[in-house]
Amino acid sequence: MHEIFMLAALAESKKALPECLPNPPVGCVIVNAEEIVARGYTQAPGKHHAEAEALSQIQGKAFKFLDSTFFRMYVTMEPCSFHGRTPACAKTIAENSRISEIYVSILDPDPRNNGRGLNILKEAGKKVYLGLCATEVKSFLYQYLLK
Ligand SMILES: [Zn+2]
Repeated sequence: MHEIFMLAALAESKKALPECLPNPPVGCVIVNAEEIVARGYTQAPGKHHAEAEALSQIQGKAFKFLDSTFFRMYVTMEPCSFHGRTPACAKTIAENSRISEIYVSILDPDPRNNGRGLNILKEAGKKVYLGLCATEVKSFLYQYLLK
């Protein structure tokens, strides 16, 4: 079941090209129970990363969930932990009390990140799972990393 959602996030990743470059084409879905309620992919540089794009959808008026509703996030690569052209996604997710679990397929090999993003999430009390569909995600994403 979780694999279906990560593969949906991978499909979002592929939509990011070519506008996202030189940023990696990351994809993200947010799930409530067994339903995808938001999708996002890396926008052009300076605009939303995949995670921020998906979060903006559940914070918008189009979705009316109870305050007690929690969401799971599936993202193809570790959220960024440093403030580049946009705020760090890991901090944005950490501060969002409605995201309770995050499934990350692969670590970000960028030495500025590389585990720091996951640590920010864990320190915020989120449940973090690494490695889902890593083979499939790597075969697409690795060619765009560390360039
Ligand atoms: Zn980011």
